[in-house]
Amino acid sequence: MKKYLILLMGATMLISCNKTKQEINYNVDKFYDLEVLRYDVPDFEQLSLQQQTLVYYLTEAALWGRDILYDQNCRYNLAIRRTLESIYCNYPDKQDEQYVLLEKYLKRVWFSNGIHHHYSEDKFLPEFTREWFASALSCIPDSDLAVIGGSRIAEGMDNIFAELTEVMFNPALLSKKTNQAAGVDLLLTSANNYYGGGLTQAEAEEWYAAHKDNSPEPLWIGLNSKLVKRADGTIEERVFKVGGLYGEALEHVVYWLEKAREVAENEQQRTVIDKLIEYNRTGDLRTFNEYCIAWVRDLDSHVDFINGFTEVYGDPLGITGAWEAMVNFKNPEATKRTAILAENAQWFEDNSPTDKAFKKENVKGVSAKVINAAILAGDCYPSTPIGINLPNANWIRKEYGSKSVTIQNITDAYDKAAEGNGFNEEFMLSDKEIKMAHQYGSLDDNCHTDLHECLGHGSGKLLDGVTKDNLREHGSTIEEARADLFGLYYIADPKLVELGILPNTEAYKAEYYRQMMNGAMTQLVRVELGKDLEEAHMRNRQLIANWVLDHVNPEKPEAEIIAVDVAKDNSHETKHYMRINDYEGLRRLYGELLAIIQEVTSTGNYAMAKELVEKYAVRIDPELHREMLERYQKLNLAPYKGFINPKYNAIESKEGEMIDVMLDFSEGYAAQHLRYSRDYSVLPTWND
Ligand code: ZN
Repeated sequence: MKKYLILLMGATMLISCNKTKQEINYNVDKFYDLEVLRYDVPDFEQLSLQQQTLVYYLTEAALWGRDILYDQNCRYNLAIRRTLESIYCNYPDKQDEQYVLLEKYLKRVWFSNGIHHHYSEDKFLPEFTREWFASALSCIPDSDLAVIGGSRIAEGMDNIFAELTEVMFNPALLSKKTNQAAGVDLLLTSANNYYGGGLTQAEAEEWYAAHKDNSPEPLWIGLNSKLVKRADGTIEERVFKVGGLYGEALEHVVYWLEKAREVAENEQQRTVIDKLIEYNRTGDLRTFNEYCIAWVRDLDSHVDFINGFTEVYGDPLGITGAWEAMVNFKNPEATKRTAILAENAQWFEDNSPTDKAFKKENVKGVSAKVINAAILAGDCYPSTPIGINLPNANWIRKEYGSKSVTIQNITDAYDKAAEGNGFNEEFMLSDKEIKMAHQYGSLDDNCHTDLHECLGHGSGKLLDGVTKDNLREHGSTIEEARADLFGLYYIADPKLVELGILPNTEAYKAEYYRQMMNGAMTQLVRVELGKDLEEAHMRNRQLIANWVLDHVNPEKPEAEIIAVDVAKDNSHETKHYMRINDYEGLRRLYGELLAIIQEVTSTGNYAMAKELVEKYAVRIDPELHREMLERYQKLNLAPYKGFINPKYNAIESKEGEMIDVMLDFSEGYAAQHLRYSRDYSVLPTWND
């Protein structure tokens, strides 16, 4: 049957059989402090047709939640987006200076899923004038006006637009998306839309306290609902479900999940999808718990996904989830790599430079944690995490475990986009280091992450009576340093070449150079001048690099920061660079520090952890910091990145049978958002 159809559709199949890889343009757009990138979905063609079909249905389910997040981020977001998009498409003079400024603002709204910066959470203001905006509104066709006015249309469009204009232009109004500042009512001062009707923080907290589930398998009350104060002062819980709040969008999510269940890879995965469908229909949090447990247990499926109200950072009280989705599948190459590492975990443990007393007799590596994302949606789009660890309920993590993944095609896209942006040219010592980075950078980076995640965290043991809590506030910095050092020590080991993970015994040098340069110098560009290092990963990297620089052989330093006089026009400028003179010696130093950090961990030596962190990880040399920032600023790079998705085209037979799923990487940034707004937008403008 299928073969016959393929013959019938000869022309189409010819294209898909000879899927010559489209040339992918990774850098798509840049505006303000934001850059939009594209990511590849490698090995999608290697999936079976059934798996490709499953991915396709799940990507559809993912895209239908987009409007929900806009509404959660701020009550006015959908109205503003729809108004801007209508002007964008209908305004006659596309060269108009003011129109160009509207386009810029709209691109920013798309990037942030609303009018507040996705990272700083501050409201950003339009650069076009109120007067021009007022006149441009007249180009909006009646059909769009009806959608924007929606349930409020009787109030008059003039009044509604006046309100939107105030929200957009008045800096004092709804200025912060999620307020975390102490001493004020967090709900009334947050611009987002997790609570309604003027509900106060005290009222919400009282309601949650009264409804809290204290059973051993507690329900996460409030995860999928919005608390609204009615006119009579009572509180209503509006649950997100089919037939409830956001039901119009969730109906479509369910429609595609039902198609997905038909092509599930196995029974466990079908159970996961069934539970999610049921949960979306009923809003029952008990079903959500069952779904989470089923999801954690599904380790065999090649394709996996997240779809729903998940992370709670957006809610000032940290209870209600923001809608997000991601579809992914195992990265076969990386999965092979991590499987090899996991199989050899005991060898790595036995041969590490740590004291025998701190080694595990029986170590088990963790495998298959590397994935490729197939679609990003909701709170994972356009700005996206590069790793995910779920579920969030602590009791499920304790009883059933959790799944943690690194998203390789996203990190690869970052690497590709960074190539040729001038960063390496500015900060690396010479062509030799730049070439090394180009040749081995991505490979090393992935390899180091694998070693860190698969082996590093799981290596070593705590002595009796010691727990991870012994190191208190320095625990995560020390733990990350331990995993990083394990990776750094072993990435230079010939064993990796023997296992077929690295191509030769030179490849590791690119990682050594980058780690030293980044840890001691270039990561500082992400910190404001005058501040200390706060974040645990940044602290760990500086701890390692600065400890090494402090312990080099003074006669013949293995690594050092050198000052170079750079001729510039008619003057001279001093720039600092990392220089590595002895890579093998550097490995020895990494090994020494690994032994120390393992001892600190195994013995729970808080005093020593504190000393190491305070001496090497926190303070920043202000002169070096200033230099790094100045050199970085001259490169004019956008600090925040986001992505656009590939477009999935389902090729179906006349009978509606799936023949192929094809990926298109040619869509532009604006085109993608306009398409999503056209094809995946059923939510009312006002969801009060
Ligand atoms: Zn880690």
